[in-house]
Amino acid sequence: MLNSLTDCAVLNNGVKIPWVGFGVFLMEPGEETERSVRIAIDIGYRHIDTATIYKNEADVGKAVKECGVPREEIFITTKVWNDDMREGTTLQAFDRSRKLLQTDYIDLYLVHWPVKGKYIETWKAMEQIYARGQARAIGVSNFKEHHIDDLLAVSDIVPVVNQVEWHPELRQPDLHQYCIDKGVQLEAWAPLMQGKAFDMPVFKEIASRYNKSVAQLLIRWGLQHQVVTLPKSITPSRIEANTHVFDFEISPEDMARIDALDMGARLGPDPDNIDF
Ligand code: NDP
Repeated sequence: MLNSLTDCAVLNNGVKIPWVGFGVFLMEPGEETERSVRIAIDIGYRHIDTATIYKNEADVGKAVKECGVPREEIFITTKVWNDDMREGTTLQAFDRSRKLLQTDYIDLYLVHWPVKGKYIETWKAMEQIYARGQARAIGVSNFKEHHIDDLLAVSDIVPVVNQVEWHPELRQPDLHQYCIDKGVQLEAWAPLMQGKAFDMPVFKEIASRYNKSVAQLLIRWGLQHQVVTLPKSITPSRIEANTHVFDFEISPEDMARIDALDMGARLGPDPDNIDF
């Protein structure tokens, strides 16, 4: 049973990652990101999920630097963007991210998307970063089974996580089971369906029976599936409310009802067909 924001999953290399992370996608660079991350850390989040393409690594770095919590108590993820894969500049991109984040090391560095013809070369650069101890763990994002198979064919390092779009309408049970079998921790992006969940009566009905909000229900549903979950908010009251997920348990019947909503429906792109 999970109890708090500091409870961790253990990755396949022994590194611990807090089950709940704070997502910062679509946060404005500057004051908005810095303020939101600072509020999140003050509330107790210890895991921040950013990416080069979000253009707010510097603001995450500033918030972490100035928050008063020791760096080693905060888990920071960032991701190499597709252009740096195409141009083969992953090592330089990593150093840029470290500088922007004002940190010697990144806790988790991810390949953001499986850019065709490029992700194996990128993974080789990630291996170097890991071997140097500059990233405590390396993983992937938006990878399907066949992409991970490609990496495993050429590398001894199993990605520690796969961060994918994951919510009730896109539960990806086969991919999830594959990741469990290979020792890859699944992480959920868009755990709140990027807002879509709030208009769905079924969630309101179930959440109200637990005296919880729809956001709390969906975060808890992810945790009960042993998925690391990354809710994003710039709204202080929501940032706070989204942490109240450790004092209730969704029943097996309600878990099954939510599970049954899966219809393989994506909000974002299909990783096999990306044009960016
Ligand atoms: P989410 O599913 O986290 O939804 C965020 C939206 O939900 C925002 O509009 C937010 O509004 C709203 N919201 C948050 N909490 C509440 C609440 N309690 N009540 C009502 N509304 C709420 O979407 P994201 O796309 O941001 O996904 C989460 C994280 O996953 C990202 O921030 C990023 O870190 C990561 N991600 C990774 C991707 C990848 O390719 N690897 C792709 C996309 C995301 P507001 O902010 O206005 O409060």
